[in-house]
Amino acid sequence: MDKEKKQSYQDKDGGEEKFRKPAKRAPKRKVCIFCVEKTGAIDYKDISKLKRFVTEKGKMIPRRTTGNCAKHQRELAVAIKNARIMALLPFKAE
Ligand SMILES: [Zn+2]
Repeated sequence: MDKEKKQSYQDKDGGEEKFRKPAKRAPKRKVCIFCVEKTGAIDYKDISKLKRFVTEKGKMIPRRTTGNCAKHQRELAVAIKNARIMALLPFKAE
């Protein structure tokens, strides 16, 4: 389905060190995966799932990026916070 090929970095200017990252504008339509999967409450013990919604530094990814609906984003926020308290997710990773 993906028609757009991701552009790889090209070295046109002959070894310039600063590369600008290509703007990530995926025209993909985002859907809330919790609505799709129809899971009930979001489980704070399900770290593998929660980890998809936090950055590598441990910050939560905003809804505009993940495409979650407001209801599930709220639940997710609570789940992530619980997981942090239970030391399943870091508050802040360095
Ligand atoms: Zn949802």
